[in-house]
Amino acid sequence: ADEARIVFENIADRGAGLFHPTLRLGVAGLSRAGKTVFITALVHNLLHGGRLPVFEAQSSGRISRAYLEEQPDDAVPRFQYEEHLRAILEDRVWPQSTRAISQLRLTVEYESASGWMRFLSPGKLSIDIVDYPGEWLLDLPLLEKDFATFSAESLERARLPSRERMAQPFLDVLATIDLEAVADETTSQRLSSTFADYLRACRQDRTALSTLPPGRFLMPGDLEGSPALTFAPLPVEPGRVYPKGSYGAIHARRYEAYKTVVVRPFFRDHFARLDRQIILIDALQAINAGPEAVQDLETALSDILACFRPGRASWLGSLLTPRIDRILVAATKADHLHRTSHQRLENIVRRLVDGAVERAKLSGAQTDVAAMAAVRATHEATVSDKGETLPVIVGTPIEDEEIAGQRFDGRTETAVFPGDLPEDPSRILRAREDGIGALDPLTFVRFRPPRLERTAEGATLSLPQIRLDRALQFLMGDRLA
Ligand code: GDP
Repeated sequence: ADEARIVFENIADRGAGLFHPTLRLGVAGLSRAGKTVFITALVHNLLHGGRLPVFEAQSSGRISRAYLEEQPDDAVPRFQYEEHLRAILEDRVWPQSTRAISQLRLTVEYESASGWMRFLSPGKLSIDIVDYPGEWLLDLPLLEKDFATFSAESLERARLPSRERMAQPFLDVLATIDLEAVADETTSQRLSSTFADYLRACRQDRTALSTLPPGRFLMPGDLEGSPALTFAPLPVEPGRVYPKGSYGAIHARRYEAYKTVVVRPFFRDHFARLDRQIILIDALQAINAGPEAVQDLETALSDILACFRPGRASWLGSLLTPRIDRILVAATKADHLHRTSHQRLENIVRRLVDGAVERAKLSGAQTDVAAMAAVRATHEATVSDKGETLPVIVGTPIEDEEIAGQRFDGRTETAVFPGDLPEDPSRILRAREDGIGALDPLTFVRFRPPRLERTAEGATLSLPQIRLDRALQFLMGDRLA
């Protein structure tokens, strides 16, 4: 029934698309990667004719009008664009991050660039932006796994030397469980909550960045506390039937419920209907944490990209093939680096994505990478230090940020020397112990959003950005040609 519905919705989307062309753009990324900031900046730049030289439709003046419209999906929360923008522009604070799925429709009227199309009525494209936690993507592979397989994989990972310490409280509760015994709800909740704590600890631990399913244990959305979220992996035997009401039976049932009420609807109603996808990553954070974190980021990326591989299983089947045809992996927050390092950051991301694409055996969709800052919070300058000229970035660190013992008040502009990325991307991946010398960590300070400059007429200029225009050109330029 799900497959039929996806086919039906795809046909319906396309039928509607004949009269009213739409582009469904998915925006995903692990928590704090920069999704909210990206969408707010994208919409603001399009609504206000921001300076986006490489985004050709806009820079050549072919976009005649851009406006927000009511989104077509009534049951999905609207992306709170106005509120997020107010935070950035008026309060100069970063907006509230993504906690669940949300959506916004931006419609663009444009003049076609070439040929006879120009003589027809102006083109119109509705861009449906779908914002969702990347943690939820990592759930899609669960559709192919039964409870015994999910459990075996999860427990094996929990016992890895690098994770065992974090998983210990969960493993301790697990050791007291008789799978055949009648399940006690308080104990079930303790199993589930200690398992979720362990997953969260993995996210926070500097060496283990990649997320582990179930994604809603990290980003519960509105399902917190429901039975579908109150289970844990158990060492059940494949194929064995456990007595009714026992731990073995109840947790398996809840796992299946999780797939039915959480994963399938997400796949069917959202993921399967996307045309384009941007995946945001916080590469700088991983780079600073060291080679293991970078490798882990690559693993997470291949897991994520594998979800976009067409025909990997009957369920994710070939229905996906015609939909998502472009995927951009973008490292955000490039404004924390001086311009001299932007291309280097992009080369590092390219290296990671090439490895991930290969491992995920992704084919069909075109991929590209970018190092960008959706909102540029800094500008560049040079300072002289003992006869040397150093490239620095200048911004207003948020209150209580600290570098080398110096605390900031949130009001004063400060120059920071962030350090350089290496020219050779493989230095980032090389283990520290190989004697080549560890890289000096980069200095990161969180800056407040920028103060917008005003023109002589008093109009505010649009939000400054780094390479956001290139990202937009790749994601939607061809649909506005
Ligand atoms: P989400 O969880 O993916 O929605 O992440 P957010 O968009 O809320 O971003 C998380 C944090 O990253 C923000 O609060 C900012 O501190 C920082 N951030 C995100 N994008 C940018 C950017 O373009 N420039 C700078 N300087 N910081 C950013």
